Amino acid sequence: MKKRKTLYIKFIVTYLIFGVLAFITVATLTSEMTMNYMVKNEAASLYKEATLISNKYASYFYSNIFSSEDVEGQLDAIDTLTDSNIWIINSEGEVLYNSRNNNNQSSSKAIESFNPVSGNNYYTVGNFYGYFNEDTLSVYSAITSNFMIQGYVVIHIPMKNIYEQHKNVLYISYISLGIIFILSTLILVVFTDAVYIPLNQITTATEQYAEGNLKYTFDVNRTDEMGYLAAQLNYMAGKLSQTEDNQKKFIANVSHDFRSPLTSIKGYLVAMVDGTIPNEMHEKYLNIVLNETDRLTKLTNSLLTLNNLNISGMILETTDFDINEVIKNTVATFEGTCKEKKIKIKLVLSGPELLVKADMGKIQQVLYNLIDNAIKFSENGKTIKIETTIKNNKVFVSVKDEGIGIPKESLNHIFDRFYKSDLSRGKDKKGTGLGLSITKEIINAHKENINVISTEGVGSEFIFTLPESSLDEN
Ligand code: ADP
Repeated sequence: MKKRKTLYIKFIVTYLIFGVLAFITVATLTSEMTMNYMVKNEAASLYKEATLISNKYASYFYSNIFSSEDVEGQLDAIDTLTDSNIWIINSEGEVLYNSRNNNNQSSSKAIESFNPVSGNNYYTVGNFYGYFNEDTLSVYSAITSNFMIQGYVVIHIPMKNIYEQHKNVLYISYISLGIIFILSTLILVVFTDAVYIPLNQITTATEQYAEGNLKYTFDVNRTDEMGYLAAQLNYMAGKLSQTEDNQKKFIANVSHDFRSPLTSIKGYLVAMVDGTIPNEMHEKYLNIVLNETDRLTKLTNSLLTLNNLNISGMILETTDFDINEVIKNTVATFEGTCKEKKIKIKLVLSGPELLVKADMGKIQQVLYNLIDNAIKFSENGKTIKIETTIKNNKVFVSVKDEGIGIPKESLNHIFDRFYKSDLSRGKDKKGTGLGLSITKEIINAHKENINVISTEGVGSEFIFTLPESSLDEN
């Protein structure tokens, strides 16, 4: 039972892992990407500003008048306006102007290992050679003259502003992620409703079936695959249950069919042994006993045949043989019975020879069963007609009698095992009700058909098909 929970737990765990991974992605990848984007963006706009300054004030560079009130005033104004610290550095690294430094005389101390051209970047993030205590974005724009770099305009802004903005953007991302995560529980709800609950119902049902409770029904009221699976399972259980019922019925029938002849055999034998039946009558009753044992033998044989037919389908030994010949031979075995009942068998056979491709022994059995029935259910003096015809490479064999016929309500059942119509019960005490079911199984194994046309009180006609042998054409 524990096993049944794993699917759900797996789903929840996957869901949680998804949540954690999504969070990690936002915390790392998204965070880094937005940070890079923001820095780049900021750097690009500062670069424009720096280039503007470098172009505008390049001429002052030579005259070294950055300290002039005029220039200073302008640059200071830009500083205030854009909240950025503007430096002008010559190519040796000496800071010629610093908008945040009151004493703007050129500092004699050059920035150590000043190398703004390292790499492709026109900006850096850091403490700018140790000049700042906090992370700073520094953007360079070269001041060029005569194709030589004379110096740089460097604009610094503290990174803390960008960090702050970045934090806000991430905050928005986290909120969106949280909302998406909560919304995605919808998937969990749908999964529970569409898969987990019906699956549970189906599992419970299979457990019930495994325990032998085939009558257990359940209702997964869905039109999707789960519903279909459930319906199929229900159907299968129904079929199994029906098979089980049929099997019980089958065994009850077999037992009943064995018991009645055994009871009568025992009855007669006991009566003979204890003298109830006088010696001179023994022959008569022994014949009855013999008849009954015949019936038992027939029943046992039928059961064995049926059983053999059912195991792993039927193995057919198909050969090409003359069906007309087989019919004649089979009819010959009934000569005695026909004489007794004054029944005539009329053969209307197509051509002198009619080759079919089938299992001869089994087809002989089919003919035997049909002719046997036709004789059994015909009054004395009637005629039975056996006819063969060919149509579209199929050979049709018909066994037609003028017997008692089969009631309409029985027509659908005569091929069922142990079925005997009420009409026939009185007439045929030896019948097992297995003959036609064996017949049908044999014909079906040949992938052919058998049909019956019958009118109560008029007669019956059984027609089956066989494949015509292709030998004829060669
Ligand atoms: P059985 O051993 O009782 O003949 P079958 O399976 O051969 O068993 O036949 C089943 C039932 O079908 C018979 O009991 C009878 O009621 C009916 N039946 C079969 N063949 C005929 C026929 N030619 N005429 C009338 N009823 C028939």
